[in-house]
Amino acid sequence: MSASYTQKTSTTQRTSTNKVSSMSHAALVIIGTGMAGVGLARALRRLGEQRTITLISADSGDDYSKPLLSTGFAKDLKPDKLAQRNAAQLGEELDARVVIHAQANALDVDNKTVLLSDSQALGGDRLRYDTLVLATGAAPRVPFSIDPSVAPRCFTINDLDDYRRFHTALGGNPGRVAIIGAGLVGCEFANDLNTGGHQVSVVAPEATLLPRLLPPPLGNALGDAFSEAGIRLHLGRTIDSIAPSSDDGVALTLDNADTLDADVVLMATGLAPRTALAESAGLTVSASGVEVDRQLRTSHPDIYALGDVACVDGVNAMYVQPLQASAKALAATLAGTPTPVNFGAWPVIVKTPLLPVVAYPPKTTPEHWRIEGEDGNFSALAEDKYGRLIGFALTGSCVRRKVELSRAAPALLG
Ligand SMILES: Cc1cc2nc3c(=O)[nH]c(=O)nc-3n(C[C@H](O)[C@H](O)[C@H](O)COP(=O)(O)OP(=O)(O)OC[C@H]3O[C@@H](n4cnc5c(N)ncnc54)[C@H](O)[C@@H]3O)c2cc1C
Repeated sequence: MSASYTQKTSTTQRTSTNKVSSMSHAALVIIGTGMAGVGLARALRRLGEQRTITLISADSGDDYSKPLLSTGFAKDLKPDKLAQRNAAQLGEELDARVVIHAQANALDVDNKTVLLSDSQALGGDRLRYDTLVLATGAAPRVPFSIDPSVAPRCFTINDLDDYRRFHTALGGNPGRVAIIGAGLVGCEFANDLNTGGHQVSVVAPEATLLPRLLPPPLGNALGDAFSEAGIRLHLGRTIDSIAPSSDDGVALTLDNADTLDADVVLMATGLAPRTALAESAGLTVSASGVEVDRQLRTSHPDIYALGDVACVDGVNAMYVQPLQASAKALAATLAGTPTPVNFGAWPVIVKTPLLPVVAYPPKTTPEHWRIEGEDGNFSALAEDKYGRLIGFALTGSCVRRKVELSRAAPALLG
């Protein structure tokens, strides 16, 4: 597919769609039009920054809120309702060029150039920059291979394009959905699809739901709420095989030889920061992301990173509040006021209305969890060996303690 771009030309106030010229330049190039990339461009314009900005996106460049993807089925929202504006409107709003369906394949850091996917086809699409920002997010990690015979029925959902494909495959009718994974994305989609009238099963190797966010008694409380709503849980189980079934769907065989039939499979098995571009350009990366300092600067002085791809001073939180703080701080830095970012004690709000959950997981293994409550309404306080609060998890009516406990807990990145 050839790259195209939308550009607001300030002289004519016109938005156009064209191919990328073989070599162009922008003072600031941002790779990624997710909440991090767009948030940064918005923050810069809010500061009155006039520099030319080009945003590059491998996807459609629609401006949407990713957290809303796991709330659409309950509200019966069509995918296009989730897009707040398309790439052309985004370019107009940001007074920026937005290059869509273009994969940044390589960085030539010595010549400050980004090479785009179809550089060969178009005789060498290159973008020169003064400053580059990586906002490439994280990609779904699928820990097993999917046989081509069932691949059209197996999905991950990590952006609006994925959501469109999944929505189309499920069709308008109630379907059978097997979700693999019991983390935030798996649990939110299980709740949402169940409320939207679909028959949902969850398969995961862990014994309880949200194992990285909740201690087991609270994970069990969420499991009870899910079971009561009709979601079938297969916890402590792994997948042996996924094969075509006689009714045009798939049959999943679990490690205990149980089988379950589904129309579609949603793999919610985790995300890994997209570090390949940075790594091949020689920037410092780790399993947690592209390593950046508190000013979001990578190991190369002209290249910054933020959002799900970035590991800030050892922390990659992968949720919205830290990336919003990063966008604000980086905008100030790029506008001439060097500004280190801080992350407060910001808990994750899990969108499981069947049982509300708020969690601020401790960074180190707690000495013990102090758990109080009953009937799904639990407070769990993670304490260190001196009895100090280092994290918490709340369910049901106890989620109202979120503000009080956030004030008492240590900052994520203080
Ligand atoms: C279903 C779901 C629900 C969530 N709910 C919540 C929630 O309730 N609260 C919360 O705080 N967080 C939530 N999160 C997490 C939150 O949405 C993410 O942390 C955030 O959206 C990440 O934004 P990003 O811009 O860093 O990455 P992304 O949104 O992944 O954007 C990455 C961008 O980079 C582009 N890209 C990548 N590689 C290239 C390349 N080589 N060339 C060109 N472009 C490239 C992509 O096309 C995309 O435009 C949720 C996540 C999911 C999946």
